[in-house]
Formats: sequence, C-alpha cells, structure tokens
Amino acid sequence: MAEGLLMVVSGPSGVGKGTVCRHLLQKNPELAMSVSMTTRSPRRGEEEGKSYFFTTRDTFVKLREEGAFLEWAQVYGDLYGTPRRFLEEQRDLGKDILLEIDTQGARQVKESYPRGVFVFLLPPSLAELKARIVKRGTESLDAMAKRLDFAREEMKSLDIYDYVVINDRVAEAAGRMSAILAAEKCAAGRNKNLIAKLLKGGTW
Ligand code: 5GP
Repeated sequence: MAEGLLMVVSGPSGVGKGTVCRHLLQKNPELAMSVSMTTRSPRRGEEEGKSYFFTTRDTFVKLREEGAFLEWAQVYGDLYGTPRRFLEEQRDLGKDILLEIDTQGARQVKESYPRGVFVFLLPPSLAELKARIVKRGTESLDAMAKRLDFAREEMKSLDIYDYVVINDRVAEAAGRMSAILAAEKCAAGRNKNLIAKLLKGGTW
C-alpha cells in the first residue's frame, strides 16, 4: 500500500483557506478532511461535525489532558485541536488527509509527521486580505484588527512550510495545491514499498 500523505494548510484569517480546501477536496475525492474541535461559537452557516466539533472549554481541556489531540493551539482566545483518532484511522487505511490549522499547530504536527506536506496560503496583498475579512463580516472591528496583526506575524515565520500558494483566484489556488499533491504522491521516497514490489516482479 502506498503511504498516506498528510497535507497541512495554514494561512492568515480571511485568506480563504476554507474555500480553497473545499475546491481541493472536490478535485481530489480520495483526500479526507480532518474536522477540528473548537471552543469558539459557530458562525452563520457552520455545521456541527462538518465545519468543526463545537465544544465547551471544560470539555476541550479534559480531552486535551487525556491526549485526544494530535496538536492544539489557542487562536484569538479560543482553543482549537485536531482529534488524534480520525487521523490515525485514516493513516492506517493509507488515506491522504488534509489539515487546516494555524502555524502553532503546524509546528506540532511537523514533530510527529516530518514527512507531511506543509503549505501556506498567502493573500495577493495585505489590502486584499483586509477587504476579505471586512466582506466576511463575521468579526467585530477589534477582532478584525487582531486578525490582521496576527497575519503579519504569521507571514514572518514560514520556515516549516514547504510551499507557498497565493490565493488570487480560488480555482487557480486549488489547482496549484492539487499539483503539489500530485507531485508529492510521486516522490520516490514515498513509494519505496511500491518500488520494492516492482523489483519482486509485481505490478504497480
Ligand atoms: P476560524 O475561527 O477562523 O475558523 O479559525 C481560526 C484559526 O484557527 C485559523 O487559522 C485556523 O486555521 C485555525 N484552526 C482551525 N482548526 C484548528 C486546529 O485544529 N488546530 C489549530 N492549531 N488551529 C486550527
């Protein structure tokens, strides 16, 4: 079985990570999206178990202490974490997984999955990022300012990422992410088992 691939996508709030990831999932039906748990309240249109598993701070902390998260972080005052179980189940099935998490979480994942593919989504400009956050209209003025400040900070520490993708247009950005996925799946280092199988006279 080919090794399942873990793709981690980060990027500043408002850059369009959710939309680009949805396009990427449509183009790559074999890719499974991990659903995070969060203590923040649902936004309009968000669905329990699809967008996030929404929970209380007490429950989150209890689960965290039980080791239920592969990684977790506090982002804009709320807690977010990647449930370990789903990831491990999919990994054992050889499935490819997509994680959409912040830079603090990505650093933790890099420790457990150094062969993961780390992609950072960038806006075409800071002005455009601000316009997108304002247009989304889900945050207070104070929260919007916090997110913009944090975006600048995040963009300064891209050392753990393998790729940067500019989200100018969603379809093009998702196309570039698909190309990254396809290339990474062909990496010789990920296909050692298959190469060994060929050498033994098997078929690809
Ligand atoms: P939002 O509240 O806008 O959905 O997400 C805020 C930030 O939290 C985004 O940068 C998003 O990538 C990040 N995030 C979402 N889920 C997780 C998670 O499970 N772990 C970590 N570390 N960050 C997450």
